[in-house]
Amino acid sequence: MSNLRFKSVEEATARKAVKVELPKERVEAYYARQVFNRQRMFEYLPKETYDALVEAIDNRKPLSRELADSVAEGMKRWALENGARHYTHWFHPLTGSTAEKHDAFIEHDGKGGVVEKFSGKLLVQQEPDASSFPSGGIRNTFEARGYSAWDISSPAFIVDNTLCIPTVFVSYTGESLDYKTPLLRSLNSIDKAATRVARFFNDDVKHVICNLGWEQEYFLVDEALYAARPDLVMTGRTLMGHESAKNQQLEDHYFGSIPSRVEAFMLELELEAHKLGIPAKTRHNEVAPNQFEIAPIFEEANLANDHNLLLMSLMEEVARRHNFRVLLHEKPFAGINGSGKHNNWSLGTDTGILLFAPGKNDHDNFRFVTFVANVMAAVYRHNGLLKASIVNATNQHRLGANEAPPAIISMFLGSAVSSILDRVEKADSISAITFDGKENICLDIAQIPELTLDNTDRNRTSPFAFTGNRFEYRAVGSSANNASALIALNAAVAAQLDDFASTVEARVAAGEDRDAVMLDEVKKLIRDSKAIHFDGNGYSDEWKEEAARRGLDVETSAPLMYDRYMLPQSVEMFEKTGVLSRKEIEARNEVKWEMFTKKIQIESRVLGDLAINHVIPAAVRYQSLLLDNVYKIQQLFKGSKADSISAQDLGNIEAISDHVSAIKSGVENMVNARKHANHLGSEREKAIAYHDDVCPYMEQIRYHIDKLELMVDNEIWPLPKYRELLFVR
Ligand code: ADP
Ligand code: MG
Repeated sequence: MSNLRFKSVEEATARKAVKVELPKERVEAYYARQVFNRQRMFEYLPKETYDALVEAIDNRKPLSRELADSVAEGMKRWALENGARHYTHWFHPLTGSTAEKHDAFIEHDGKGGVVEKFSGKLLVQQEPDASSFPSGGIRNTFEARGYSAWDISSPAFIVDNTLCIPTVFVSYTGESLDYKTPLLRSLNSIDKAATRVARFFNDDVKHVICNLGWEQEYFLVDEALYAARPDLVMTGRTLMGHESAKNQQLEDHYFGSIPSRVEAFMLELELEAHKLGIPAKTRHNEVAPNQFEIAPIFEEANLANDHNLLLMSLMEEVARRHNFRVLLHEKPFAGINGSGKHNNWSLGTDTGILLFAPGKNDHDNFRFVTFVANVMAAVYRHNGLLKASIVNATNQHRLGANEAPPAIISMFLGSAVSSILDRVEKADSISAITFDGKENICLDIAQIPELTLDNTDRNRTSPFAFTGNRFEYRAVGSSANNASALIALNAAVAAQLDDFASTVEARVAAGEDRDAVMLDEVKKLIRDSKAIHFDGNGYSDEWKEEAARRGLDVETSAPLMYDRYMLPQSVEMFEKTGVLSRKEIEARNEVKWEMFTKKIQIESRVLGDLAINHVIPAAVRYQSLLLDNVYKIQQLFKGSKADSISAQDLGNIEAISDHVSAIKSGVENMVNARKHANHLGSEREKAIAYHDDVCPYMEQIRYHIDKLELMVDNEIWPLPKYRELLFVR
């Protein structure tokens, strides 16, 4: 009898690192070679077109039709010269992945042949037949039209002989059906609001840019082992598997030397990323075995997010060339760390100032405090919503488990910033903060390196941590589109900054001194949002209780968290900032609930199949071996001697029976719970039922399967075990 598990272990162990040919040139020479960036635009577009396009990009203006035609002509010429034969509008539907429909550049030439054509119309706008993308009911199939439109702030690029044009995706009636549209709106709103406040400190500021530096965590598994695990293939995570004797307890993987097969993968991934203009910079092992991270240099948030989405698909492609499968799931393995995607988020002015960076003088430092206090207030007010923006069927397994941030949003500030805020709160005037007492803010600021050093395990427990000149939003999941988190965060902070600016302006208009007013308002923010500030251990049970006492959102059910989007304060905030309308929020929630249900439904079906078709047959086969043995013992020894020799086998036989029947009844109950849930009226009710009634059976079934894994003869067990999935490479 052949065991697929052993075959795949053998195959995986025999593999050598795939050799990667590095280009002869230096990275400067091939960096962004596949991108229609400003350098290419300058080369391929007429001077007037180039100037007008750059002007439109910089000032966020729409393109005229003639301009679009001229841009399309140059872009096509570049694309064809660089091997492209097709083009596609590349967009980010609410499924969370990316979508593309390829068209060849050809048109009839009227003489029985074809010409290669690409008009401005095709560049700027398309109508993908996209009726099967989720829309939450906005787009009924009879009005199935959805439009994709070029986002000129993100340059076109070539992947696999296809020119990809980053686009937004909206309905016939203008509602967003994607992530990019509200992300762009949120970036506009935070630009406007933060600029208002930044101008209190410096009149020259015209724009505020939101930066994003993501850190992408992932697992690699050999493809033969992956293929022998139907749960990984179908759901991206293991639905069963006992912890291996050794996992991450020795912490010997983190920052350890990178295995050679993995290093080859990373090398090629970085090479491909660089050709696409993705500034990949850092790579290292992560905490769990076979877990790794890649991080670029931060960029403007919209571009950075496009780059992250592009990199995620690149990872899958490159991994295959190295006989790996990449797991972007937040929790592929129980009992060890999951994968997140830390979002390093900051605001910078067009005059080159990072608004969350302490400055060199009192004026700059007060600006720093003002922005930090506003972020605190926004995160506090909308902590439930922010949590809803990062949670889903996959990330829910990670939050609160194995060193992941808890399912509670709080803010880590560190001792230096905390003490500055304390002092600001007690100060009578801005100058008093500096001159009152021996230490002044400047002295504190000199301790900033301490903050970076502080960036250790302790503050790893915080879902939202200040890290020197930015905030690190760590609760975001590894498979997520960052936009979901950024939309909520930017909108919340924009609304808060707007309120702050309006209050200050109104009081100044009424004759008050601006510095005094600002200090007064900042003090209020610090005082009123204290509950969000927590520098302690977010993993502890005490924190859960303490957070509840503080009135923070401690809900752990994803389907219920989505209700936070519909809170009056959320809807008001999204509508006021113009980021999402009520109709859009409602529709997006429908999609979230539906996606939640579908993911759990698939997992539950796969688990049922595996339990019945893989696990129980193996357990029964082993049980019958034991029975056979007992039978022979009885023949040979007889009486009490036979009983004592076969006692252990008999115990195991019974235990196997117990586990098998628990699995059988668990699967039956789970199927019934699914049937019941499927008949519920609303997407929300279905998702809640899947969360409350289906998920618990999955855990129960898994418990018994994992027990059997420990008992059943290793030779018979059909599925690759954790020790193989995580350590064979
Ligand atoms: P760590 O693992 O210590 O958090 P990394 O070096 O892995 O740090 O990643 C830090 C990320 O933060 C990088 O993407 C980096 O470019 C980004 N980053 C640094 N400064 C800023 C900033 N001001 N705004 C946004 N991102 C930043
Ligand atoms: Mg990190």
